[in-house]
Amino acid sequence: MRKDEPLRVLQQVYGYKEFRGQQAAIINAVCAGQDTLVIMPTGGGKSVCYQIPALLLEGLAIVVSPLIALMRDQVEALNQVGVSAAYLNSTLTRAAQQDVEDRARRGELDLLYIAPERLLQSDTLALFSRVRVCLVAIDEAHCVSAWGHDFRQDYLALNQLRSVFPDTPRLALTATADQRTQADIVDKLDLNAPQRFTHGFDRPNIYYSVQAKSNAKKQLLSFLRTHNGDSGIVYCLSRRSVESIASWLCQQGYVALPYHAGLDTAVRQDHQDRFLREDGVIVVATIAFGMGIDKPDVRFVAHLDLPKNMEAYYQETGRAGRDGLPADAWMLYGLQDVVRLSRMVDESSAAMAQKQIERSKLTRLLAWCEVTTCRRQALLAYFDDPTAAQTPCGHCDVCVHPPATWDATEPAQKALSCVYRTGQRFGAGHVIDVLRGQLNDKVEKFAHQALSTFGIGRDLSERQWRSVFRQLLARGFLQADHQRFGGLVLTPESKAILRGETKLMLRPDADKVDAEQVKATRTTRSDYVLPLEDEDLMQDLKALRGQLASAANVPPYVVFHDATLLGIVEHRPRNADELLEISGVGQAKLKKYGEDFLAVVRTHTMTTPAEQS
Ligand code: ADP
Ligand code: ZN
Repeated sequence: MRKDEPLRVLQQVYGYKEFRGQQAAIINAVCAGQDTLVIMPTGGGKSVCYQIPALLLEGLAIVVSPLIALMRDQVEALNQVGVSAAYLNSTLTRAAQQDVEDRARRGELDLLYIAPERLLQSDTLALFSRVRVCLVAIDEAHCVSAWGHDFRQDYLALNQLRSVFPDTPRLALTATADQRTQADIVDKLDLNAPQRFTHGFDRPNIYYSVQAKSNAKKQLLSFLRTHNGDSGIVYCLSRRSVESIASWLCQQGYVALPYHAGLDTAVRQDHQDRFLREDGVIVVATIAFGMGIDKPDVRFVAHLDLPKNMEAYYQETGRAGRDGLPADAWMLYGLQDVVRLSRMVDESSAAMAQKQIERSKLTRLLAWCEVTTCRRQALLAYFDDPTAAQTPCGHCDVCVHPPATWDATEPAQKALSCVYRTGQRFGAGHVIDVLRGQLNDKVEKFAHQALSTFGIGRDLSERQWRSVFRQLLARGFLQADHQRFGGLVLTPESKAILRGETKLMLRPDADKVDAEQVKATRTTRSDYVLPLEDEDLMQDLKALRGQLASAANVPPYVVFHDATLLGIVEHRPRNADELLEISGVGQAKLKKYGEDFLAVVRTHTMTTPAEQS
C-alpha cells in the first residue's frame, strides 16, 4: 500500500480534505495487520477507520455490530458514496440473505455488516471459510464487558474470532469505555497485543446543563423554545411519562412521537423512521430508544429523569450533534429520581457485587449533577480522560452561570439529626415536616412534635430543605434504605458533618434558573444562525435534499449532512470543481447530485436588476 493511499480514498470517496485526530494512524496500524483498540467519542469518525482499510486491503471486511436498525442506513450511506457493502441480520428474507452470501462469495463486497449472533452460526462460518477476510471490526466493543453499561451475552462468543481468523487483524471500537472496560475488551475479545488509540471523551460542540426539577413541563417548554424546528430526543424513565409528555408536547404544537418497549413494533418502527426522515421531529422515549440512531443532526437530548449512571448519560447525550454543529445536553433532576433509582438498584435481581457497582455508579452520577465546578471537566474526569483540558471549558452551565454556593453546614447538621431522631425510617417529606414544625396527622401519630428537632428548621422553606436533602443524598451523607421502604439513613460519612469536622458548601436552588438557562443556551447557538438571504438558500437546499432523499428512500442526511449544506451556503460554488471543494462532497455524490445542487445555488446568485444597471 502506498503511503498516501488512505488520504486519496478519504478525499475521492468521502469528499473530506484531511484526516481527523488519529484516524490516519489507526488506518495504518490496521492495514499493517495489527490488532487495534480505538476509543473515540461519538461523532469522532470511527467508521472510516475500518471502512478505508476495507477498501484498501484485498478481500472482505467484516463489521460486527449489535445495532441492527443502523445497518441498513450505514450500508445505504456507503452505497451512496459508491462503496460495495451489504449486511446480514435477522431482518433479511432467506432469499436476500442468499443473495448477500453469493455476492460475498464472488468477491463483490468490500464490507459486510453482521449481527454478533449471526457471525458464529455454522453457515456463516462456512461462508467465511471460502472467502478471503481481510479485517474484522467489532463496533460497540464495550458490549463485551459486564463492567461497561451495555453488556450483551452475544458478544462473549466473539472471543472465538481469534481462532476462526488467526491471521486477520481485528479492530475493536467504542465510544465509551473506562480503564476497566478497556481491559475487559482486550481480555474478552482476546486481542493480540493491540495497539491502543484513545481519543478522549470530549464533545466540544455539546453544551451540558443540569437543572433542579421544579415544574418539569414548564422547564421543558422554555428549553424547547430555544430549539424551534430542531430534531431532538426527550428521555423519560417510565412508559407512562413518555406517553403523557409526548401528547402534551403535541398539544403545545410540537411534532412529538412516543417510543418505548410497550408499543407495537410497527408503531415503534414508524416513529423511528419519521424521526430519521423528517425534519424537526421530537421523540419522547425511554432508554429503549437510541441504540442504532445514527442521525447526525439531533440538536438536543433532554432528560426529564435521571439516567442510570454516567456511562448511560454520556451514551444518551452522545446522540446529540454528531455532525459537529452546536447541540444541547439538558437534564432535570430531583429528589424523587434519586430515591427511585436507588430503589431500582436494590430491587434488581443482580448479584450483590453487581449491585454494589451500580450503587457506586449512581452516587457518582448524583455528585456530578451537583458539581460546583466545570461540568465538562468533571465529566471527563469521570472517564479518566487523559486528554482533558486543565482549564474550565466556558461552554457548560456551571462555567457560564457559576452557582453561588452557601454554607449549609448547620442546616445539614439539623437535617441529619432529625433523620436520626425520627428513627432512620422516614422519607424526606416527613423529616422536612418535622424540621419545619408542621403538626399533621403523621407527625402526631408518631409523636414527633415531642422531638428536640421539631421545628428547628423553620428558617428554610420546604423547597430549600428538599434541595439540602437532595444534595446530602447526592454526596453520600444520606442513603435511602430500601429494606426500610426508602427511609433515609445516615452513612459513615454523616458523622464528620454532625461533629462539625466537615464544612458543607451547597448550591442554592435558583427559581430564576429557567430564564437564565434560556439565555445561556441562546448564546451557545448564535454561531448557527444564518443571515436572511443565506437562510433562504439553506431552506431551498434542504428542500432539494428532501426530494432526492425520498426519491432514493434514504434519510436526508445520507444525501448530504447539514454541515455540507452549510458549506455550500458559505462558498456558493459555481461549478463542479468548486462543489468538490466542499467537505462531504466526493466523486460519487458529485455525479449523482452535483448538478441539482448547483442549479439551486445559481438561482440564488443571479445578479439582481440593481446590479445590472
Ligand atoms: P462515530 O462512528 O465515531 O460516531 P462517524 O464515523 O459516524 O462517527 O463520523 C461522524 C461524522 O464525521 C460523519 O458524518 C463522518 O462522515 C464525519 N467524518 C469522519 N471523518 C471525517 C473527516 N476526516 N473529515 C470530515 N468529516 C469526517
Ligand atoms: Zn465548563
